Amino acid sequence: MNGNNTNFLLLGQKMRMIEMLRQKGITDENVLAAFGKVDRHRFMESVLWPSAYEDTALTIANEQTISKPSTVAYQSQLLEVKKGLKVLEIGTGSGFQSAILDAMGARVFTVERQIDLFRKATRTLNALAPKIITYYGDGFKGFPRYAPYDRIIVTCGAPDIPEKLLEQLVVGGIMVIPVGVESQKMKKITKTGESEYTEDDYGDFLFVPMLHERVKMKF
Ligand code: SAH
Repeated sequence: MNGNNTNFLLLGQKMRMIEMLRQKGITDENVLAAFGKVDRHRFMESVLWPSAYEDTALTIANEQTISKPSTVAYQSQLLEVKKGLKVLEIGTGSGFQSAILDAMGARVFTVERQIDLFRKATRTLNALAPKIITYYGDGFKGFPRYAPYDRIIVTCGAPDIPEKLLEQLVVGGIMVIPVGVESQKMKKITKTGESEYTEDDYGDFLFVPMLHERVKMKF
């Protein structure tokens, strides 16, 4: 198949995915446009490409998953991303969520605790979205070097709201975080003062757990 046909098929798959996202209640045009710009299949092994534009979570490595498109879109919408805002992501995984935020015009910083996932995502993002800063660290500690952030998005299930992340959020900033151990409630936290915040609930989700400390190879 030549390149033009491949692009044409990819465009069709993306348009169907965007239509599906609209049907699931995604209304932020900036989010929908980002899904048109980013090739989701580039963030996974080629054996998974047939499912790359379906609404399913897919395994990347080390029991970790790339969240399903509707979840990525939902969190991105809750985050109220605007051009130029500094966004910290905890849980780089494949790098797909970071690339969506970058395509929405955010300045993205992303933290991963597993060295092999960190390395792989860094390679992918250097090629596809080179402005994104990746960091190998424990997300419970945030990424102090570039703090404070206008937005923080956590893409693993947190046992509670990490204190350090609240500290690294600007007053007026928003954090979107799934909280819970067995399953998670999506929460939108708005920092209203130096040590005050409000909390809103946005339904039940299932994420891989947020775990303490950095880890090396687990194979
Ligand atoms: N946003 C990712 C989804 C990855 S799944 C994507 O778009 O593909 C969640 C990721 O969070 C996993 O890669 C896991 O290793 C990572 N993670 C879990 N606990 C963490 C922590 N304390 N700090 C940083 N990353 C963490």
